[in-house]
Amino acid sequence: MKNTNELTSALKQAGLRLTPQRLAICRFLAESKDHPTAAMIYEHLRPQYPSLSAMTVYNTLNTLVELGKVNVLGDCGDDHAHYDADTSPHINLACISCHRIVDIAIPQVEELDREVNRASGYQLLGARMMYYGLCPACQPSKVL
Ligand SMILES: [Zn+2]
Repeated sequence: MKNTNELTSALKQAGLRLTPQRLAICRFLAESKDHPTAAMIYEHLRPQYPSLSAMTVYNTLNTLVELGKVNVLGDCGDDHAHYDADTSPHINLACISCHRIVDIAIPQVEELDREVNRASGYQLLGARMMYYGLCPACQPSKVL
């Protein structure tokens, strides 16, 4: 998990002024385990920050993605990009019915990470691994 400081200092390095709105976006991303969409972030923060614009949310997210601090997970059947501030190697599980994305801890991921590192010679910055299917709660109603 990332802490808020890591995200805010990345924004400052990118030349962005750290407004209360941008700080709130960073804090929400760092603390969220729900892999929020831009709209979810906007709706969550707007009551506290009435001057927040959807554009600020999008621009802040795009900057953090470009800096490699936040991953875009793509959509999981809901046509919305989901964002994950945890760029350490871990597996995301997306449900194509209720569109929830959860993390699953698989110990072998670390081994896989070491192997990719060894075999590639890359300086690895992070990883994105997405599995998708029907979550246990959605399985009884939808059989594929
Ligand atoms: Zn589901």
